[in-house]
Amino acid sequence: MDWARQVHIKNSSEIAVMRAAGKINAEVLATVKGLFKPGVTTADLNAAAEEILRKHSCVSPFKNYGYPPYPASITVSINEELVHGIPSTKRRLKEGDIVSVDCGTIYNGFVADSAFTAGVGEISTHAQKLLDVTQGALAAGIDKMRPGNRTGDISAAIQQYVESRGYHVTKEYTGHGVGRQMHEGPQVPNYGTAGRGLLLRPGMTIALEPMVLVGTAKTRVNPDQWTVVSADQSLTAHFEHSVAVTEGDPLLLTVL
Ligand code: MG
Ligand code: MG
Repeated sequence: MDWARQVHIKNSSEIAVMRAAGKINAEVLATVKGLFKPGVTTADLNAAAEEILRKHSCVSPFKNYGYPPYPASITVSINEELVHGIPSTKRRLKEGDIVSVDCGTIYNGFVADSAFTAGVGEISTHAQKLLDVTQGALAAGIDKMRPGNRTGDISAAIQQYVESRGYHVTKEYTGHGVGRQMHEGPQVPNYGTAGRGLLLRPGMTIALEPMVLVGTAKTRVNPDQWTVVSADQSLTAHFEHSVAVTEGDPLLLTVL
């Protein structure tokens, strides 16, 4: 992948713009999460996201991305849907669903990219465990985002966190650098070998995004050509933050 070779180091003023973009993206996700309840359509969630983006005069890099052009500003992926679910007026949330929402924001020429998964009403302990493991894997990966470490340290930490708890990571979709483009280098898979890969430097900005499946690492794509589902229809979850490597602790860009 060509984008994976383009690694751009950001200066402090560029990081500040990315932080502002990330704040808006976090506001979108918090608003959408607040709307989770049975009967709400996934198109309603997209409309709410677009209203927040519009308020800030921003757009999502997801809109018209790829081929066929992605038709919405967020992705909404329910239960066995891992990522890239297309919002629809026909799809309603149900009690007990786990719902992943991914959003991007372009602000002053920089992109923020983050995602979360949460339940609708009461969810099973089995589903809650999956959410906890996926969120824990993201935290384990972020903790490795320090100068002197390598991308393989991040990948290995995520993989080990997930697999040691009996879950699976997809090998088909990965974390990525983020900046003026939604996808830049380095590519950061959710599996790998510690000590390998690109050396991390202050000013690198990376979207880490563990995608975790209960029953299998295998996925397939639905006939809509976007929605990625677990091959065995087991539950899945996805958490993502855009994070900057600094001289000290990793800086979360996509928080309020
Ligand atoms: Mg994303
Ligand atoms: Mg991403």
